[in-house]
Amino acid sequence: MSNTDNSMMVNLERMLRDLDEVNSFSTDFHGNADGITRRSFTDEDTKARSWLVRKLQDVGLEVSVDGFGNVRGLLPGEGKIVVTGSHLDTIPNGGPYDGILGVISALEAIRVIKERNLSVTHPIELVAFTDEEERFMSFLGSYAYTGDLDANLVKTLADSDGIPLQECMHKQGFDPDTATHTSKVDLDRIEAFVELHVEQGPLLEMKGIDIGVVDTVKGNYRYAITIAGKPDHAGFPMEGRSDAFLALHGLLTRILALARVYERSGLLYTVGDVKVFPGLENVVPGKAYCSIDLRVKDGNILTELDRNITSFIEEMMRDGQFTVHTEMILKLDPVPMDERICKAIETSAAEAGITHMRMSSGAGHDAQVLAGHVPTAMIFVPSKDGKSHRPDEYTAPEDIRKGAEVLLRTLFNLAR
Ligand SMILES: [Zn+2]
Repeated sequence: MSNTDNSMMVNLERMLRDLDEVNSFSTDFHGNADGITRRSFTDEDTKARSWLVRKLQDVGLEVSVDGFGNVRGLLPGEGKIVVTGSHLDTIPNGGPYDGILGVISALEAIRVIKERNLSVTHPIELVAFTDEEERFMSFLGSYAYTGDLDANLVKTLADSDGIPLQECMHKQGFDPDTATHTSKVDLDRIEAFVELHVEQGPLLEMKGIDIGVVDTVKGNYRYAITIAGKPDHAGFPMEGRSDAFLALHGLLTRILALARVYERSGLLYTVGDVKVFPGLENVVPGKAYCSIDLRVKDGNILTELDRNITSFIEEMMRDGQFTVHTEMILKLDPVPMDERICKAIETSAAEAGITHMRMSSGAGHDAQVLAGHVPTAMIFVPSKDGKSHRPDEYTAPEDIRKGAEVLLRTLFNLAR
């Protein structure tokens, strides 16, 4: 296969049409002004799933939908399966590319292989995962696919409005009682998993590089910290107060000073939510809350920060003036991707004259669930100004074309 071979070109117009069609399945769809809202197990999600099933059938693939709504389209072959895909759902008022671009690129790649009779040996399968964006649980679909999902947990899950997962699954025609058992695939039959996704950061654009080859998904620890002191009138003397906000401020100052030290090692730290109670101008806060989100490639840094946060809090509670409740609401250790699959992506990009760089992902992806079981890597395409999870999320058509071509070539090279 030579570098200039037309058989490895994707049909960009067709991809953009596909994207528009899927993104018309969105609640409150006002020509993208409010972004795309396609939450899992809603009518829009079901419409998108039916649309994809039809598209995969048109290509002539063996199509199935598992108990959690993960859509699979198989191009049969010999030996282990090369799997590609991403997720169908979005956050509320999200962008038109996150997740769905990986599904559309996978569709296009397999469509090209099938249409042009490119000679591959291995089976190639598209999978579109359910609920990556956590209406009920992050990576629900991919956890079900890999068999990491606890059937008992499924019974307890609800969305932020308290609507139970089971109820929503029933409404969309799924059986939550059997889903966990019927969705697990035979992981020994999978050769590799490749996910194309938007970068959700500015690095590719800043450096003028076409695609990113993700070799690690950063670890992510998240804390919810609540400090209880004593509410008082704002006229109360300073010496008798137990001001929960001042205590929180002191704690955060120590934590952030430490975080700043690790900044040069690539640590990302965010205090994204702060609340004081009762939240009145003339009342000394009796309670204060904050969230802390830490992301970094090196797991040792997360362990070290965790140890320090615990000891800062212990120190603070020592004199009995404050009680602190700390909950670790997320604990994901860094996930390395597979070197062989990373190299396959790099080789494929080089064949096409598409520039590439290694990078780590600060956001979580279905690929990190798969990476625990099968050789996995990711292709990132640029996000304009690094924006994502918002209506003006944008990836230029030319970047979509390049990303899809690298995916096509990677699948072809892995499945040959
Ligand atoms: Zn995503």
